[in-house]
Amino acid sequence: MEYLSRFDCTWEYIAGRINIADPLSRHPSLHAAILAAPVTRSHNQEVPIAADLAQRLKMAYQADPWFASLSNVEYLHKRNNLWLRKDGSTTQIVLPNDDALRYNILARFHEDPLAGHPGSTRLAELVRRSFWWPRVVKDAENFVQRCSLCQRYKALSGKGQGLLQPLPIPDAPWESVSMDFIVALPKTEGGYDSVFVMVDRLTKMVHLAPCTSSCTAEQTARLFFNNVVRLHSVPKNVISDHGGQFTSKFWEALCELVGMHVHLSTAYHPQSDGQTERTNRMLGNMLRNFAGRTPSVWDTFLTSAEFALNNAVNRSTGQSPFFFNYGFHPALPVWRELEINIPAAKTFAKSFLSRMTDAKACLDAAQQRTTDYYNKSKRDITFSVG
Ligand SMILES: [Zn+2]
Repeated sequence: MEYLSRFDCTWEYIAGRINIADPLSRHPSLHAAILAAPVTRSHNQEVPIAADLAQRLKMAYQADPWFASLSNVEYLHKRNNLWLRKDGSTTQIVLPNDDALRYNILARFHEDPLAGHPGSTRLAELVRRSFWWPRVVKDAENFVQRCSLCQRYKALSGKGQGLLQPLPIPDAPWESVSMDFIVALPKTEGGYDSVFVMVDRLTKMVHLAPCTSSCTAEQTARLFFNNVVRLHSVPKNVISDHGGQFTSKFWEALCELVGMHVHLSTAYHPQSDGQTERTNRMLGNMLRNFAGRTPSVWDTFLTSAEFALNNAVNRSTGQSPFFFNYGFHPALPVWRELEINIPAAKTFAKSFLSRMTDAKACLDAAQQRTTDYYNKSKRDITFSVG
């Protein structure tokens, strides 16, 4: 898929009896995809257009007899014609029993530019920040399974060799930044074919910059300066799996840009720390997803892709990068439309210090988990001379 995405292909039907490649499409592993296909089609036809979501919600409440019963709504409260429920510190809008409406909400959190096709766990978490209905997790799972784009760009995880060497967990946000490139994307009108990815190793916040595969160490330092230093200042160290020569040149150029006279060294880490690798794989899928639809202008989607990544819960930290950095979830378009202030967006749920302690504890556990899991099926490789 990755390789083919750079070509402009057309599909052509060749009858089975003259098509020598046909037996490949009968492979048992494809049965699930074939079974899911008709469902996807029927779903696409009935996507409702919610021109006015608030109005639709109001009508659906009236049509749902559940809300007419006093004992059912006893623990809910009504504001702006919306039924709300409390779940800890979050307030959720209770959605009426209306499949089209629920489907529409899932679609907005999955397919909108600021959503960027999250997986089912992330999707359910995003939805539950502001909505609730029974079995939302199951519905999110079904939704992602039927998303044809997600099916197409699903990652095939390769098997690596060598044991995983976990990196020390940083103490503060933007103290340690990992950088990486996603290469071999289709060339855009602006001449870009790669993305420079900068990830804060503590909060997992991501910044993306379009670049070319011939990007030099000096140009990379400039991109880093414009994207990371501008917002978060100079990190203590930078982790990269680029060769030592590239990283030392990069760091030299960066020190020059920020006027730092002591030349600290970058950490050269030949093997990503698992978490970064996973983030990058997910990111690669997401970008290929965008790029596959609009090969020549995918770079214009980078801003929304970055937002989507930073707003989604990270599996290792258990929170979204936005939350760890700012202490609240950013408002989404759907909140603005419903003209309701979701309190979670306004209140600082936790102090900066306790958020960072949380982040570190979660990373610690995740790192242990990853290392154990990874090393279980691997053996340490030693090479002998010659
Ligand atoms: Zn999708």
